[in-house]
Amino acid sequence: MDAGSGIGRRDLAGKLAPETAMNHLPTTLVALSLLTACHSGPPPAADAPTWAIAIHGGAGTLGKNRPAAEFAEYEAVLTRALRHGADLLDGGAEALDVCEAVVRILEDDPHFNAGYGAVFNAVGAHELDASIMDGATMRCGAVTGVRTVKNPVSLARLVMTKTPHVLLMGDGAEQFADSVGVERVPNSHFDTPSRKRALERALRAQEKNASIDLPQTKNDRYGTVGCVVRDRRGHLAAATSTGGMTAKRFGRVGDAPVIGAGNYADDTVAVSCTGTGEEFIRHSIAHSVSAHMKLAGQSLEQATHAVIFDVLQKDDGGLISVDKDGNLATPFNSEGMYRGTANSAGRFEVAIF
Ligand code: ASP
Repeated sequence: MDAGSGIGRRDLAGKLAPETAMNHLPTTLVALSLLTACHSGPPPAADAPTWAIAIHGGAGTLGKNRPAAEFAEYEAVLTRALRHGADLLDGGAEALDVCEAVVRILEDDPHFNAGYGAVFNAVGAHELDASIMDGATMRCGAVTGVRTVKNPVSLARLVMTKTPHVLLMGDGAEQFADSVGVERVPNSHFDTPSRKRALERALRAQEKNASIDLPQTKNDRYGTVGCVVRDRRGHLAAATSTGGMTAKRFGRVGDAPVIGAGNYADDTVAVSCTGTGEEFIRHSIAHSVSAHMKLAGQSLEQATHAVIFDVLQKDDGGLISVDKDGNLATPFNSEGMYRGTANSAGRFEVAIF
């Protein structure tokens, strides 16, 4: 894959205004904004869901040939997290609270690459990233490179509510965690034998071929977690948490804490992404979904399909999303993506492939 040049990938400007030169783009966007402002779209159906939720446990999977019992374990955790979120929403909980609560469940479960069970970086440690965003107010918070925070998503939320900032990193984020009483644990708290083996595989691959900078196989990268919600009031929120990529360089920052790349929510849509973070950053994937909807008048289905299948390339990953009307879309271009969706109309589904 030509990760450096992005050759062969289409950008948003190219898709929206193929016939115009870049210097005409502002005029085009103004015209599109006016068009979409006038076009309010069809009213939501009378039986539209009052709440909706999607969760993910990462793109890339164990591989289809693994024993069914292993998949059942993942499905059980996804079901538990989704059920908890659905129950909260049914009881009238707010989108942000649901996102945080659900992501905490997934962070505490060793099957996923977030919190306990996070991947190891190239120097054998865990550096965790997380973010959260409130679509109703556009407030957001994120942390990156934290090593001792048990639930990074909660620290991200406190960055949002208790500081004037959006993103805190490393030591500064941990010092802030102490000041707001967030639970810290030794870095070894996040260790699991399977992630250790994945690191060893990656380092062996790198020894054999020094030109590979990120030597994980696609099956070793699964597990980032996320949640998007539309609550009863119609408010949207998104949260994402990850250990990043196996054998990543010390200090590498992925897309999960980058608002607009791996996580985004506004009054139109909420999005949480998973996959090769560099690509999601390069193409501002999470925010692009909103741009496609607002500026090009696309449906959630069309917008998410465009960014996953036209902008990104095969095996880059996937996303979960919910729009203001409670529509859900969870496209991915990897072999699988651990995911679940539920709504007030009785939908409740968990899937991997
Ligand atoms: N997007 C994450 C990162 O690049 C990894 C993943 O979702 O698998 O840090």
